Amino acid sequence: MSGGSEHGVLWVISAPSGAGKTSLARALVQTTPRLRTSVSYTTRPPRPGETEGEDYHFVGMETFSAMAERGEFLEYARVHGNGYGTSEAWVKNQLFAGDDCLLEIDWQGARQVRERLRGQMISIFILPPSVAALETRLRDRGQDTEAVIERRLAAAREELLHYDEFDYLVVNDHFEEALSDLQSIVHAEHLRCGRQQHAQHERLRGLLGIG
Ligand code: 5GP
Repeated sequence: MSGGSEHGVLWVISAPSGAGKTSLARALVQTTPRLRTSVSYTTRPPRPGETEGEDYHFVGMETFSAMAERGEFLEYARVHGNGYGTSEAWVKNQLFAGDDCLLEIDWQGARQVRERLRGQMISIFILPPSVAALETRLRDRGQDTEAVIERRLAAAREELLHYDEFDYLVVNDHFEEALSDLQSIVHAEHLRCGRQQHAQHERLRGLLGIG
């Protein structure tokens, strides 16, 4: 990926579990043209209501390790005891087609992508309004056992420690406000001079009397 401005933007969103990242990301994709979410590969079993190919590609450890060995992941990490990885081919195709790509990944993955594609990704960290709100949201899901919730709370603290590695911080206290913040960030990024140079190529030529 050479970083030409005609390429799509690689967005990375991270958050502690329970901060509302998935709902926000879904709403952002629904309201943003040419933005699609990468479907990660995971070794974790599907939760009730999750669909193969939509929420995740659910694979066994053997398949996951083979993909990692073949270098098929743009990034991969172990989160809550399971493997999670992003398909490099999918992301590249999307970006080369000029479309934006959204990765919902943890801080470890965000760090790997940042190191590999320095300057080409914009990262956003979602903050829950408080520890109490985070805990309530984790319990309200009703899908996980107490032990899993405790583990996720500990992991949330670990994830929060990395907030300052990200370009933007968005607090998800009120959903609509947080969504509006995300939309503003995406909108502003597309107005950057380097991107507008490409999008407004013909207009600029006309205005500058070139050709
Ligand atoms: P969950 O199992 O609750 O869907 O996700 C657990 C954590 O794994 C979340 O923090 C989520 O962002 C992260 N995650 C999901 N997909 C990926 C991925 O492809 N790579 C990495 N590094 N983390 C991921």
